[in-house]
Amino acid sequence: MTTLVRGTFSFKARIRDVESLLPQEQGQGFFKSLNVSPNQIITFPKAPVFQCEICKIHTSDSDFQNKAQPTAIIEELFNDFISNNSEDSFIIATDASKSLTLTSIACISNQHSFVFRKHPINSIFTVEALAICQAIDDLSNPEKNLMILTDSLSVLQALKSISIRSPKIIHRLHHKKMIREKSNKKIKLIWTAGLSNISWNEKADFLARTATNSTPYLNCISAEDIISHLQKISIQKPTETFRNSKYYDSLGDIPSVVSLSPWLKHRREEITISRILTRMIITPSLLHKFDLYDNPTCHKCNQENDIEHILLNCTQYRAHRIKLWEKLQIDTQTPPS
Ligand SMILES: [Zn+2]
Repeated sequence: MTTLVRGTFSFKARIRDVESLLPQEQGQGFFKSLNVSPNQIITFPKAPVFQCEICKIHTSDSDFQNKAQPTAIIEELFNDFISNNSEDSFIIATDASKSLTLTSIACISNQHSFVFRKHPINSIFTVEALAICQAIDDLSNPEKNLMILTDSLSVLQALKSISIRSPKIIHRLHHKKMIREKSNKKIKLIWTAGLSNISWNEKADFLARTATNSTPYLNCISAEDIISHLQKISIQKPTETFRNSKYYDSLGDIPSVVSLSPWLKHRREEITISRILTRMIITPSLLHKFDLYDNPTCHKCNQENDIEHILLNCTQYRAHRIKLWEKLQIDTQTPPS
């Protein structure tokens, strides 16, 4: 069965002490003037809900995390770091892999390892985070502090700055950390640069790449990845249908309205532009094609009176065209005839 990754926190607004945002005297006067007390004000959810005392995220504070150094130095500094920390921490390396054919996650500790296939819709961001979730679930040692290694800087940065708007997988990961808090053992999440000869990384990376079609499959999809997948399809499908249609030969590739929409003011403009691009805006020539108008030619220029003629060539609109070209900063030295 497919599981959707959902947030672990409700979106219900919580009340917090707004008074603390203002200097005390000013605060009291301000609320008095509104005739409300501070606890009657509905505010944004309180940030400390995302704070986690037992979990520390390290993305740049260790020497080996400076990627500008030669890989040999990074490797040596990392090995020093591990030997200083291996006594009191249980180390797990995680990684994810996404190719055209397979999406997989892998985790490895001194005692165990696993590799799972994941649904191909998931982004690399989601699977990197899922690998950490799975490591906490399956490999962690409840007796020891946990040190999890990942080469996904984006996942750790997202986790560091978690908010109500963060991706659902980040909420799930945060929730796993909070559950772990009950065991009273610490978690350190450590970023390790990829391709730096760090043996823990290399092993997890290798393991993730060993996944084949017969590797055990854990079906889990992030809601955001489903949405972006659907968005991709919603753009691709009409384009494919158009390319296979009889109109493609005569019209060719048409610029997408989506690419123009940032410049358009409202829906009505979008419709007009779409009609121009698809040559479906009403012109004498178009009406003639449907037997709704007698004369398809321009009475001034004696050329076919279609949208190209009106916009680019018709002498009747020459003055308007020059003004528009100047406004659009198009070269007016050689305006159309
Ligand atoms: Zn004309």
